[in-house]
Amino acid sequence: MSLPVVAIVGRPNVGKSTIFNRIVGERISIEEDIPGVTRDRIYGKGDWLNVEFNIIDTGGIDIGDEPFLDQIRGQAQIAIDEADVIIMITSGREGVTSTDEEVAKILYRSKKPVVLAVNKVDNPEMRAQIYDFYALGFGEPYPISGTHGLGLGDMLDAVIKNFPNKEEEQYEDDVIKFSLIGRPNVGKSSLVNAILGEERVIVSDIAGTTRDAVDSPYTFDGEKYVIIDTAGIRKKGKVYETTEKYSVLRALRAIERSDVVLVVINAEEGIIEQDKKIAGYAHEAGRGVIIVVNKWDAIEKDEKTMNKFEEKIRDEFQFLDYAPVVFVSAKTKKRLHTLLPSIKLVSENHSQRVQTNVLNDVIMDAVAMNPTPTDHGKRLKIYYMTQVAVKPPTFVLFVNEPELLHFSYERFLENRLRDAFGFLGTPIKIIARARK
Ligand code: GDP
Ligand code: GDP
Repeated sequence: MSLPVVAIVGRPNVGKSTIFNRIVGERISIEEDIPGVTRDRIYGKGDWLNVEFNIIDTGGIDIGDEPFLDQIRGQAQIAIDEADVIIMITSGREGVTSTDEEVAKILYRSKKPVVLAVNKVDNPEMRAQIYDFYALGFGEPYPISGTHGLGLGDMLDAVIKNFPNKEEEQYEDDVIKFSLIGRPNVGKSSLVNAILGEERVIVSDIAGTTRDAVDSPYTFDGEKYVIIDTAGIRKKGKVYETTEKYSVLRALRAIERSDVVLVVINAEEGIIEQDKKIAGYAHEAGRGVIIVVNKWDAIEKDEKTMNKFEEKIRDEFQFLDYAPVVFVSAKTKKRLHTLLPSIKLVSENHSQRVQTNVLNDVIMDAVAMNPTPTDHGKRLKIYYMTQVAVKPPTFVLFVNEPELLHFSYERFLENRLRDAFGFLGTPIKIIARARK
């Protein structure tokens, strides 16, 4: 299910990121050790009156060395392309500026609903100043104060009132949804084209039923798939497409709708920091992951090259130790036929359910083989385990005291589950709970 999307636009310094942080609030991730997470967030989840949505701070997206006004125009365009509802922020301290008028002009041309907020209205006396803002043509301006947290409720009421009625989840449960993420130029669109061009792939012509409009449904070996396209793949050519923040934003949107994510790396260039960031997002989202090394045709190799490359990947992506690695070439089509079966397998693992009795046989065997740890003379006691969710498989372990389950023993149990049930490609979660 994809949530409605809200984008914040406005000229610099009106308070966009202050308001973004207010709305995203404490939800900002705590998984600090995964590269790329939490720093310079421009994308997050918010909710108001139990309605959840995603929110983008377009002010955080730099558009290369473009002149000031083009940057602002580009950001407004991103908001129009990505959002269901746009919040335009202005400042009550400076009044209506020519840049505000410029932003408004771009927003008019789209048919997206716009909620106009006048920020920095820190006290009631300042409310008199909001009347000038009617001139921007978006109806009633909402006075707010980002730093004092005032007026945000009324503004968000207006935002959620404008959400589309219901978000259509257009695919059946048995359809495998996957996406390709990676830096620009690693070969994502070439891979999409190569996959869709493979023999026995039957591309459906009812593509593009979503807001993102570039999904490609197809069948292969009787199995239904959809490639969730990150618009950057097919609709190339916009100025902002190559900026890092924008590609991250697209990747996050695609990850959210996918069961399986292919993290694409360019064999010619090896692994760089940005690859790790992008892979970190896939991991954090709990999706199935396959690491795809593309352009394998383009490097010189002997019989050791592949193993060496894989070792390097394992070293750099330790948090993805469960992900299979495949080496392919979109250009020569080499080993491309291994990709679809891998996606299918990972998707099955990602939604695998294990019966409680079978699960507990494995856990009890594990405990017999490697006794539970003790801490200050107290031993961890395991009562039983049960699976509480899929996508990814999530297990609750009932114990005497959850604190006694140390990371290394949890890791040991996870590995036993992996050995027994074959969870290749999917993260699994173990949650310890005290039994009452
Ligand atoms: P952005 O460039 O639009 O993202 O703006 P920022 O969120 O970085 O805010 C710019 C400046 O305005 C910062 O110094 C903020 O502390 C300040 N600011 C933001 N919201 C308010 C507000 O409601 N009242 C006042 N007085 N200052 C604010
Ligand atoms: P994207 O930005 O990730 O979608 O990358 P593209 O699919 O546009 O590919 C970027 C460039 O890499 C293009 O010039 C492609 O022709 C080239 N390319 C893509 N896949 C391969 C491959 O497997 N081998 C080689 N040698 N070049 C490739």
